[in-house]
Order: sequence, then structure tokens, then C-alpha cells
Amino acid sequence: MSNYLITGGAGFIGSHLAEALLARGERVSIIDDLSTGRMANIAPLVGRPGFHFAIADVRDAIVLDRLASEADVIFHLAAAVGVQLVVDRPVHTIETNISGTEAVLRAAFRYRAKVLITSTSEVYGKGVRVPFAEEDDVVLGPTSKHRWAYAASKMVDEFLGLAYHHEYGLPVVIVRLFNTVGPRQTGRYGMVLPRFVGQAMRGDPITVYGDGTQTRSFCDVADAVRALMRLVEHPDAAGKVFNVGSQEEITIRQLAELVKVVTGSRSEIKYIPYAEAYAPGFEDLRRRVPDTSRVRALIGWLPEISLEEIVRRVYEGMRGDQAGGNG
Ligand code: UDP
Repeated sequence: MSNYLITGGAGFIGSHLAEALLARGERVSIIDDLSTGRMANIAPLVGRPGFHFAIADVRDAIVLDRLASEADVIFHLAAAVGVQLVVDRPVHTIETNISGTEAVLRAAFRYRAKVLITSTSEVYGKGVRVPFAEEDDVVLGPTSKHRWAYAASKMVDEFLGLAYHHEYGLPVVIVRLFNTVGPRQTGRYGMVLPRFVGQAMRGDPITVYGDGTQTRSFCDVADAVRALMRLVEHPDAAGKVFNVGSQEEITIRQLAELVKVVTGSRSEIKYIPYAEAYAPGFEDLRRRVPDTSRVRALIGWLPEISLEEIVRRVYEGMRGDQAGGNG
């Protein structure tokens, strides 16, 4: 049995990770300031043996030091997430992402804890290669476009993590998560799948941005969590970056159609120009597919859950929330 600390553990991915570790009999502490995380995500875990939570910012040095001193492994997931949030609150995004990771790495180094930092496919920026591989060059837009602040802040996190590994020998693994979806993800910060499912359930128009021919590949959170748990344990993962995501590509228009079928909704599909959806001059990515050969070679990981099943799980999760009064 090991002691795990999950920063951002009340968030969408963090709460699934906490649950999976507890199910394996591990001890799990989480730290979350509930800025985008929700108590409802961890409510079923509260009171379980081996589970502890602290409601605090990861930059709260006293709380973080105490939790890090007890941890064998730290999963650093606390971050500002979602394109919408990044565009709306760029100062918060940059500060949270950079100083949060700095605080976590310092604390981990003090107690020699292993660290896994979740990064994002956003760091590939507007590169046009399909698929994106970890050693590809990155192409970001200008600093006048707030969207790229997210990618740049996560790149600094990656650089810092890799530097701790290189310079101090701290075991740090970096995972670039591609569009990860599943139950408990909220559409409030712009994520497309929970937004579409919510719109379909209410009978509201499904809002496809642009012409809907842009593609994404969606990976279920359960598959992603499996990769995180295995990577952090593998001795050869330290000091490396791994893509984790699905290679099953779908256009956003097809996704809207699939959501309608799975939910049995009669919502119309409404096309909204990017400038209206985000901000004038907003740059979207046409395609985003991960090359997952590195993670497959090291731990034999492949996603197992199909997109149709993912949409069904999200729908069931949101129906449950509604029934439970959390919708
Ligand atoms: N999107 C959309 N309607 C929405 C929210 C998002 O068409 O209500 C589009 C968005 O423009 C992008 C894709 O769905 O092309 C995925 O968006 P998300 O914010 O989920 O992830 P990311 O842009 O980071 O891949």
C-alpha cells in the first residue's frame, strides 16, 4: 500500500483517479480549492478508509508541505482548465498553472516523492501534423491571443518537471492528455461533450462552433486513469513525456449527431461562428490526434471504451445528476 496525493483531486479526472486508487486499496489524500472541482465529485469517497481531503490551494505552503511529507507519489492535476476559462481569465490561468506546479515540484523534491504532472495536447498548439508525437515541434499563436497562454503555461510546467528530473534526479513523469471525457465533466468551462449532452437533454439547440468539420478524438476518463496509474509506477517513465488519448477521430458535427442518437433528442444542430462563441480572431484546431506509440510500447496501453459507449456513460451520469438534484 502506498500514499498518494492528488492535487485537483475533486476535479473531473482527479476524482476518478482517487476512486480507482482507493478501489485498489491505496491511501489517497487530495488537495483541491474547489475552484473548478466540486465536493459532489468526492462525496462518495468521504469517510472511506484511507481517504483524506484538504480544501486548499496547492500554493498554500503549509498544507502542501504536510501532505507532501506523507506522500510516496504525487499526481499533480490541479490547473486552470478549459478553453473558455482560459480565454475569460488569462491571469488566473497563467498564475495557477505555473506557480502551482512550482510549489508541487519543490514539495515533492523535499520529500523525494514521485511526481506525475498532467499536461495537455494544447501544447502542440496549431501544429498540423497528424498524429502529434511527443518529440514534434510545437507551433503556438501570438501572445496577443489568450488561448495560447494555456499551452505556454503548461509547457513551462513540463520544462520545470523535466528539469527537476534532469538536474536533481527527481522521478517526474509528464502526461499530455488529449480530449478526455466521461461522467462528472462539466460543460461549464466549455468542454464540448457535456455541453452537447446537456443541450440535447434540455431540447436546446446543440451549438456546433465553426462549420463542425474540425475533428477531435475523445478518450474515456477510465482509460486515461488506467494509463496514469501504470505510468507513474514504471521506472522507465521518469523524465519522459507521454501522449495519452484516443486515436478514434470524429468531426464535431458527427459528435452532435451521435449525441442526438444516444440521448434520443430532437434538438436542432445550430452552427455558431467562432468569433461569436469565443472572441474575435479565435483560432481553433482543425484536427487533434495523438500518436500513442510511446505509451503503448512502455506499458501496453490502448483505450478500450468506444465513443458510443463514452457518450452513453456521460448521458447516464448527467441523468443521475439530474435525478439527484445536482443538474
Ligand atoms: N465546441 C463546439 N461547441 C461547444 C463547445 C465546443 O462546437 O459548445 C468545439 C470547439 O470549438 C472545438 C471542439 O468542440 O473544436 C472541442 O472543444 P473543447 O473545448 O471540448 O476541447 P478543445 O478545444 O480543447 O479540443
